[in-house]
Amino acid sequence: MNSPMTDPTTSGDATPAAKKAPHPLGWGAFSCFLLLLWLSGLILTSCDDPSAQGDTDASFSHTSSPGSSATAFLQDGTYSRLLVEIQYMPGYRPSDSTLDQLRDFLASHLDKAQIIMLEPQEIPSGNREQYSAGDIRNIEQSHRKHYSEGSTLASYNLFVDADHTSDNVLGIAYYNTSNAYFGKRIHDVSGTPPLNPSRASVEATVMRHEYGHLMGLVNNGTVMQENHQENGPHCTDESCVMYFAMNRSNFFANIFDGSTPDLCSHCKTDVQAAKED
Ligand SMILES: [Zn+2]
Ligand SMILES: [Zn+2]
Repeated sequence: MNSPMTDPTTSGDATPAAKKAPHPLGWGAFSCFLLLLWLSGLILTSCDDPSAQGDTDASFSHTSSPGSSATAFLQDGTYSRLLVEIQYMPGYRPSDSTLDQLRDFLASHLDKAQIIMLEPQEIPSGNREQYSAGDIRNIEQSHRKHYSEGSTLASYNLFVDADHTSDNVLGIAYYNTSNAYFGKRIHDVSGTPPLNPSRASVEATVMRHEYGHLMGLVNNGTVMQENHQENGPHCTDESCVMYFAMNRSNFFANIFDGSTPDLCSHCKTDVQAAKED
């Protein structure tokens, strides 16, 4: 049950020290509700980390906290192109519709001349019943191929073939350019509309949500213009893709009716202000 050699609290990036997490292990801090969408970086307070701004390739760290490179995602000054690398374990390739919906989301919210969606690549199973954040980091280290270079910001997405060590987690943003998705749980909660949301809807929702964290939402790397934050770096608007959970809310209803949630007006305002900064 427990994965060996993983301690999410010691992996360097996500030091929760400056903030009082509800639990000593921040990774479990928000595991409530039916289906949690986020669990990552522990409420991070390191959005002012200058090392994450990535002025040069040599200085760009790919192991900083989610949200610490929000500017690199949102603005086009240093990085005019975004590369989206996707790797998946056997059986958990995201659908083409999912990737189209992610591309639409990124194209509409990021100031990038080009969004490069790489063909998803299969990697071997990690052979675990559950994956901790530490497991995820190790897998990325072994398999990730693309890093930011020149005017291209690289981001990484990993679909694993089992659950997170915390139940009900669908995805995590765990580094400043990295997201992971828990394929088994995603498959469990998706199905055939109208009884269940389609798999593409769930996948696209979770991918958009985790990219929202990389973009510094909510109030976690991107300055919040008006208060709309609750449950860590999440939005108060139940129909917003940055809402913290899929539960029996408007949010879930949105997915059921086939539309994938987007940013609400508050989140869009924050993004727009950060672009103009
Ligand atoms: Zn989240
Ligand atoms: Zn919102």
